[in-house]
Amino acid sequence: SSTTPILTVENLVAGYDKLQVLQEVSLEVRQGELVAVIGANGAGKTTLLKNIAQLLRPQSGRVLFRDRDLRKLAPQKLSSKGIVLIPEGRQVFKELTTIDNLRLGAFYRRDSKIETDIDAMFDRFPALKVLQNQQAGLLSGGEQQMLAIARGLMARPQIVLLDEPSLGLAPQLVASLYETLASLCDEGISILLVDQMAQLALSVAHRLYVLETGKIIQAGTPEELSRDSRIIDSYLGNL
Ligand code: ATP
Repeated sequence: SSTTPILTVENLVAGYDKLQVLQEVSLEVRQGELVAVIGANGAGKTTLLKNIAQLLRPQSGRVLFRDRDLRKLAPQKLSSKGIVLIPEGRQVFKELTTIDNLRLGAFYRRDSKIETDIDAMFDRFPALKVLQNQQAGLLSGGEQQMLAIARGLMARPQIVLLDEPSLGLAPQLVASLYETLASLCDEGISILLVDQMAQLALSVAHRLYVLETGKIIQAGTPEELSRDSRIIDSYLGNL
């Protein structure tokens, strides 16, 4: 992957009213990189993604996408600029069919390749092809998570912000999900994901950040982090 960051978070301070959650968080993601932020419940992972996606506005600090300050951008413009947030909890449109969910993911696109991309998405997620005319609310949890990711990809993002993709999924599904994410990065997409499943993040991420009560306390490659006894004790205890 190239060395210039596609996403740069600089000294981000953010929270809710008087509650300060993130304290001077800095990180970067390069093109084609899979970067994971791991941390316990309440560490501030979701808050971080929402501030990057401008759904919440930071108290201070900057979020740069290809050197552009995202503060100047309305959140609904994000996907047309190449940034997609896939929130926690499989937020698909439950009343709509699988294929209509995918079409909605391409809502802001103006090109004529949308149906072609839907076919490509069905190749990548064969289970969704079988279920294309099924109401999304009737899909299983894992299928809905796949659909949420596929719908996000329909925007043709350059970077995907992914909140707890493994939540509630069977371990086997999580493993195949992570393989899919790694293959997206091979195609040049960047992914910033937050997850509590440190072991899996450690096996596929190019680099990781450890977020503890709103602070990045450690960063490095999987090799570097898996040599750190403090990280092993706190986050990989059940290995
Ligand atoms: P989890 O893994 O449990 O989802 P997290 O690392 O994503 O946790 P956040 O959801 O970012 O953590 O929450 C960080 C802190 O901010 C927590 O103390 C939480 O209670 C608080 N918080 C989150 N959302 C709000 C909100 N809307 N208003 C006030 N406080 C909030």
